[in-house]
Amino acid sequence: MVDKIKKWLELFAAQLHEKKTYLSELDSAIGDGDHGNNMARGADFLLKSLDQPGDTSAVFKNAAMALLSKVGGASGPLYGSALLALSKKAGETDDRSEWIAAGAEAIAHRGKSEAGDKTMLDVWLPVQKALADGSLTHEKIDAFVAETKSLKAKKGRASYLGDRSVGHIDPGAQSSGYLFHAFLEAGAD
Ligand code: ADP
Ligand code: MG
Ligand code: MG
Repeated sequence: MVDKIKKWLELFAAQLHEKKTYLSELDSAIGDGDHGNNMARGADFLLKSLDQPGDTSAVFKNAAMALLSKVGGASGPLYGSALLALSKKAGETDDRSEWIAAGAEAIAHRGKSEAGDKTMLDVWLPVQKALADGSLTHEKIDAFVAETKSLKAKKGRASYLGDRSVGHIDPGAQSSGYLFHAFLEAGAD
């Protein structure tokens, strides 16, 4: 199993590099334009963390520590907390929907955010539900990301824009979309 998990995180990191400019463009529209840079930096530390030996739980933990300690902005600590929760859950169960539920809970706790706030959580939560009923597909992931367009931001920098945040995809939702595309791609589900 650990090989598929590593593959998942490798594919995610590659995608973050490929979409770096796009992610920063999304963040320029409703934030400070650094999400692509933050995540690409995170991707480098994440890849480096994969060199360390260990089981699935250790892989997630090392990745979490790398993001928590090296990546700034809102997204580093949020992804770091989520991966730390995955590490803990992976030590208890193989049920992927439980892993993602724990990750979403960690994001909500750290960000004091909830469904509909126009954040990465608006991808994590519906992905979790789809995983629980065995219906997660690439098309659904894209739909969850696109649905953040119609939301008004209530957390993070985008919330400063109020109504003007409507009509734009949330950058963190988009990067989380890449995370879950990579998850399916790697066969880590
Ligand atoms: P910063 O906003 O510090 O520049 P980034 O641009 O890297 O950090 O990340 C912004 C993304 O982080 C947002 O698009 C959103 O998805 C996510 N985010 C910000 N604040 C919160 C929060 N309180 N809860 C959940 N996610 C959040
Ligand atoms: Mg930003
Ligand atoms: Mg910033």
